[in-house]
Amino acid sequence: MAVQRTFSIIKPDATNRNLTGAINAKFEAAGLRIVAQKRIHLTKAQAGEFYAVHKERPFYDELCEFMSSAPIVAQVLEGEDAIAKNREVMGATNPAEAADGTIRKEFALSIGENSVHGSDAAETAAVEIAYFFSGLELVG
Ligand code: ATP
Ligand code: MG
Repeated sequence: MAVQRTFSIIKPDATNRNLTGAINAKFEAAGLRIVAQKRIHLTKAQAGEFYAVHKERPFYDELCEFMSSAPIVAQVLEGEDAIAKNREVMGATNPAEAADGTIRKEFALSIGENSVHGSDAAETAAVEIAYFFSGLELVG
């Protein structure tokens, strides 16, 4: 597998509990390099645009409220097979189903407040990175 970049968010439940460093330590221990990072506070409309793919789902409004409730940390992670590796380190969406040692198993509060987002495919990674970062902000 080639070196890839993926997009990651440390979500409001995690920034609220000062877990940015602990989560970043997990990424770095897994060989994922943080090549861009910024802390921002999304508006509800911005959160809605980011998660537009879920707009028909019953949890969409709650998800947009949550993602705009406090600051997030937007990141680009780089490494061998980074998209799949990041999903592995994150664990299952529902923390009750997440494997031991994963971020969501250790830190997530619920299926909604689940501490991290990670891109699910190369195409979505490219779109999500471009939504949050300019080329000048990706510093290897
Ligand atoms: P993400 O896209 O955030 O990386 P994911 O790919 O594991 O997570 P998705 O199915 O894409 O999961 O759902 C996006 C997000 O919507 C979840 O991470 C979670 O915050 C929220 N979500 C998903 N399912 C539910 C649910 N049943 N109830 C409440 N919130 C949910
Ligand atoms: Mg998803």
